[in-house]
Amino acid sequence: MKKILIAGPCAAESEAQLFATAEQLCTLARESRVELSYFRAGVWKPRSHPDTFCGVGEKALAWLQAVRERFQLPICVEVAHPEHVELCEKYGVDAYWLGARTTVNPFWVEEILKAIPDKQKPVMMKNPVTPDLACWQGSIERALNAGFTQVMAVHRGFALSNENVLRNAPIWEIPVALKLKFPEVPLICDPSHICGDKQFIPEISQIALNYGCDGLMVEVHHAPEEALSDAKQQLTPQEFITLIRSLHIGTDDASQVENLLMIERTMIEHIDNQISNLLKKRMITAENIALVKKENNIPILQPSQWNKVVERYQKEALQDPCYQKFLEEFLNILHRYSLERQQNVLNDKNRTKDE
Ligand code: PEP
Ligand code: MN
Repeated sequence: MKKILIAGPCAAESEAQLFATAEQLCTLARESRVELSYFRAGVWKPRSHPDTFCGVGEKALAWLQAVRERFQLPICVEVAHPEHVELCEKYGVDAYWLGARTTVNPFWVEEILKAIPDKQKPVMMKNPVTPDLACWQGSIERALNAGFTQVMAVHRGFALSNENVLRNAPIWEIPVALKLKFPEVPLICDPSHICGDKQFIPEISQIALNYGCDGLMVEVHHAPEEALSDAKQQLTPQEFITLIRSLHIGTDDASQVENLLMIERTMIEHIDNQISNLLKKRMITAENIALVKKENNIPILQPSQWNKVVERYQKEALQDPCYQKFLEEFLNILHRYSLERQQNVLNDKNRTKDE
């Protein structure tokens, strides 16, 4: 299965740095038969503090153009302003990405999209800094509505104050929900900005691939310890190639796999139908209980009864912490919804046990 692979430094710092990184990347990739899709580099860096390295601007575009010609490698750049697009167009940038601090704002997204003349040009939408699926989804819809034919999503994690190991929490359910909403839009994982530290990159990349993501955008620098931004999270070209070779990317034998999946999916569909019917029956039973409570003036919430239910199920899950967590969440939802249904029965003057 072919994956979209994007590699390159966090920021373009000098022509020598770009050439050294691109040269090593291309040589090692060729030797290892790894196919790179784009060389990335930030030209304008959205840094939190103004006194840190904010990118060198337009002159980096000329260096990137030279890299593109020398190594025949398409280049992609972050654009955060219509003027950035105008400049990138002058230097033949092949693809754009909108960063996490840009996709938070629908006005900016629209202005930047309007500035891109060629609607065939690939545009990648990074998730917004906050865990806001609707906003990320909205940026993709805006690009699709504007007629862009190659829209991609980039998952770079979400800034949460209680995440203390990774730089940005992956909150996998958000990219998974996006993929379910837009199965045709390639989803690329940016493990560098999720991790903030290169030691976690292999694990996060593999999780992303296991979820079926369509590619990786990884920060790569020929000498990461000298990098002017994000030094801790950048890989050397050799580390990047080793990473790609170590990942379990998936099989090419689509037909056999599809057959196997079809059998299992049919089974799942059957089980889901049964679950759905049982849940409906459960709700009807809960309403019947509510009618008895209503008649006898008993409150809906019966903590001791509910605790017994939870305890009974939790015993079954003791050996499996993941299942235990699921069961706990599931039972909570079930209980909440059941209480809601019972409230409705109690509030409905027309419903009595003898109806
Ligand atoms: C980047 O990719 O260089 C970058 C700044 O990313 P993000 O917008 O995800 O922080
Ligand atoms: Mn960076």
